[in-house]
Amino acid sequence: MRISAIRVTVVAVPDLPLRNVIGCHQPYALRNVIEVETDEGLTGLGEMPGGTQLRAELEDAGTRLLGADPFRRARLRALFPDRPRVQSAFEVACLDLIGKATGRSVADLLGGALRDRVPLSAYLFFKFATPEDWLATPAGTPAPRGPLGMFGWSEAVLTPEAIVAEAEEFVRRYGFRVLKLKGGVLAPHAEVEALRLLRARFGGAWGLRIDPNAGWTPAEAVDLLPALEQIGLEYYEDPVAGVEAMSDVARRTRMPLATNMCITGFADLPEAVARRPARVILADHHWWGGVEALAHLGRIAEVFGFGLSQHSNTHLGISFAAMLHAAASIPQLTYASDTHYPWQHGWDIVNEPFEFHVADGSVAVPRGPGLGVTLNDDALRRFAEIARAVPAERRDDDAVMRRWFPEWVPKDDRGGMRRLIT
Ligand SMILES: [Mg+2]
Repeated sequence: MRISAIRVTVVAVPDLPLRNVIGCHQPYALRNVIEVETDEGLTGLGEMPGGTQLRAELEDAGTRLLGADPFRRARLRALFPDRPRVQSAFEVACLDLIGKATGRSVADLLGGALRDRVPLSAYLFFKFATPEDWLATPAGTPAPRGPLGMFGWSEAVLTPEAIVAEAEEFVRRYGFRVLKLKGGVLAPHAEVEALRLLRARFGGAWGLRIDPNAGWTPAEAVDLLPALEQIGLEYYEDPVAGVEAMSDVARRTRMPLATNMCITGFADLPEAVARRPARVILADHHWWGGVEALAHLGRIAEVFGFGLSQHSNTHLGISFAAMLHAAASIPQLTYASDTHYPWQHGWDIVNEPFEFHVADGSVAVPRGPGLGVTLNDDALRRFAEIARAVPAERRDDDAVMRRWFPEWVPKDDRGGMRRLIT
């Protein structure tokens, strides 16, 4: 079996005005969809974060893979040293091909599924009310028919009480048993109040997490430790920026810290082992080099005493399938994985729906072969058309923020922004 053609397509899929420390999600989330064809008529799928720059990088890398054998993944990795995103895009597509060629699932190729269902975490966001013209495109491309009236579409969620209402909907609809709050938006004490209300509403059996994306000062992060310990968190994710500050917070609490910001690749591990900025690593196959890379990370994490969870960016069904196969087969990946999927409201580029099990918030691992998903050509074409009509260079959360706050000053003046909306 030889690779005969590679296609990379940028798609833009509707997203909501979800808040984070940087700003606000844009109306459309960008993704790159990778199709790898072989001389035997099989097509392997991959998915990566979006934007034309990464697409050019993937297309350039793809030309070097024409004629290659998808089974020879070690050679693939060696072709692109120090480029884990490129490795990941093609590794996942090659595993999908191998699975289709052999009739086995990607989980089987990773060592075999240890579980049939994978626990997921609710991803609670503060958000603006969605404007009427949110999905308008500059070039007049018809907006996708939106699920107007669906949960989460129109409402503003900008208070601790509104987060509890959002969580109730997430639990009712999807059954989540772990609730993660995307923080760094309101004042820190208001976000801790949201966690306190969540604990009061749901009780001790639910796992709670908060992720301010390094938006808190070291003093804020430390001052809030007693309150957070009393609430009882599963983990405290990236309250502050950098290994030194994270290590300092970690030394002051028995509560586990977690990160997807200061341990983001294998090169970060020696310092992480020495300095211990976190006890839980939120791995991401897009950044670490693929799902086989996450399996390698699992062994290392076990040896050095780190727990493993999975990070999520806005993603579609190809990446979701890859995450589920990884979580099913990597023994050390025991924490409920993050996912943005419910916020996608069913907009996707694959034909197979992912159903959340309302008893426990888990999703069944696709049976395969390969990833177990197929591309919906109509959806791919439609979302590619939208990508051509909207700015697709990169995500720009700051520009969206200026729609609500023309005076928005990003990143280096987060404190000023908090005062605007609390
Ligand atoms: Mg995070």
